[in-house]
Amino acid sequence: MTREEYADILLPNVKHDSAYYEKLYPERDLKEGAIVTRYAPSPTGFIHIGALYSAFIASKMAKQTDGVFFLRIEDTDQKRTVDDGVNKIIDDLEKFDIKFDEGVTPSGDKGHYGPYTQSERKDIYHAFAKKLIIEDKAYPCFCTEEDSKKDKEKQEKYKDRIGYYGRWARCRHLTMEEVLEKINNGEKYIIRLKSNGNFNRKFKFKDLIKGKSDLPENDMDIPIIKSDGLPTYHFAHAVDDHLMHTTHVIRGDEWFSSIPIHTQLFVMLGFKVPKYAHISPLMVDDNGTRRKLSKRKDKEAAISFYHEKGIPNEAIMLYLETVANSNFEMWMEQNKDKDPNEFELDFKKMSTGGTLFDYDKLINISKNYISKLKAEEVYDLALNHAKIYDKDFSLLLEKYKDYSIQIFNIEREQKKPRKDIAYFGDVKNQMWYMYDELFNTPTYEWQNITDKKEIELILNTYLNEYYNMDDDKDNWFKHIQELAEKLGYASNMKDYKENPNNYKGNITDISMVIRVALTSKSMTPDLFEIMRLLGSERIKERVKKALQS
Ligand code: GLU
Repeated sequence: MTREEYADILLPNVKHDSAYYEKLYPERDLKEGAIVTRYAPSPTGFIHIGALYSAFIASKMAKQTDGVFFLRIEDTDQKRTVDDGVNKIIDDLEKFDIKFDEGVTPSGDKGHYGPYTQSERKDIYHAFAKKLIIEDKAYPCFCTEEDSKKDKEKQEKYKDRIGYYGRWARCRHLTMEEVLEKINNGEKYIIRLKSNGNFNRKFKFKDLIKGKSDLPENDMDIPIIKSDGLPTYHFAHAVDDHLMHTTHVIRGDEWFSSIPIHTQLFVMLGFKVPKYAHISPLMVDDNGTRRKLSKRKDKEAAISFYHEKGIPNEAIMLYLETVANSNFEMWMEQNKDKDPNEFELDFKKMSTGGTLFDYDKLINISKNYISKLKAEEVYDLALNHAKIYDKDFSLLLEKYKDYSIQIFNIEREQKKPRKDIAYFGDVKNQMWYMYDELFNTPTYEWQNITDKKEIELILNTYLNEYYNMDDDKDNWFKHIQELAEKLGYASNMKDYKENPNNYKGNITDISMVIRVALTSKSMTPDLFEIMRLLGSERIKERVKKALQS
């Protein structure tokens, strides 16, 4: 029996051979230096912030080199597949402006290198597995779970490396006749690689991010086709990235330890090894010890967490860009008018160890980002957020649309804009007091002046003698100064600092009383603007309410 016939028995009904597929997927016609890369998730429907980070880096690298970024769905582990998982991933990434040039889309595949879903590529994997069998680089393995368990126990006992290799690779030396007999007996099998590696030999490897290292060769006879006929991740990676002409494999650093297997597979299959860039993970500080941001332990790992908070996607991307290349912030400083997309990422500037995930920094970026938006934009985004997460508040925003936009407009579109809104879920918290419906029984945050009589005196004198609803900002301020003087407070800080004993306090104490009476808060955006929006009727009502509290 020829090896071809033998391979036909092991993997029957394969329509084409590997040469057919090599021809079907020719080299891509791209300019020199163009990066072809991919995002290759399992369709679990869940996007981890670390995965978003990798997808972002990969997409940006492709874009900035006029390359190709494609989406491949790695569903060979059918247990992990969830309904609609693919659409959720595409949807989520699109929100972050991460778009694919090619690959799986909600309406089918786009591009000439598909199918882009691994479960639809069975025939292709079998064609290449057959090639390996014909070349005596792969073989069937009939070992049961029970067999592996027994061998593992022995390996532990003899302190030998765990795995299927060398003398432990029981089925490696089965003759064709023995194999055929087992098949005739109905024994189930998988296909394993016949590794040509030597664990005691090292090979040189250069990762675009992590740099050079010496890695041990792989000597494990790893499974390449599982008993359900689907390939293992390792085998599919080699076949797919070869046929799809991926130039750069950009992925999470948890895959770095698989490099000996992957490079070996590429070489044994006769493929050119792609370039690899392993992105170091996002870490958290867990009571003094650094560990990877974890899907199970950290709520910040899920993208949905940011959506619930209402952190703008653009802010998350700006943060991830800062994490990717720390010189991004400086570039932004120096290129204020440029679109952040113009910044070019550089593998060499990426961290080689883990990067601490700095939530506070993200919030700061978010604050800055929101501070630069127009009032109408803030309104739209806050409303969209509230519609999903705070129905009642969304109704108020809709009912008082213009008024709300005016509130957002306070201290906006100016050199130093207000930065009180950190994320859209924070909007109500920052401006609830502007809505009578929410201003029920507030807790007044009186500051230096807490004496009820003094507060009453200040508020009544102000309303009766100095408040004028038609005042512009200068006159409004002048009137508060006059009020201060009349009641024995310094009307400016200089006088107060020179002779503090001459005064009951200063103008900030006076304006604080007015601020707290009208809003209950000691920190608010510009008081003049707030008063203008509240209008004289509500101001009077609120003063009355404060005095009764
Ligand atoms: N399917 C793998 C994952 O879920 C992809 C790894 C790769 O990019 O090669 O992480």
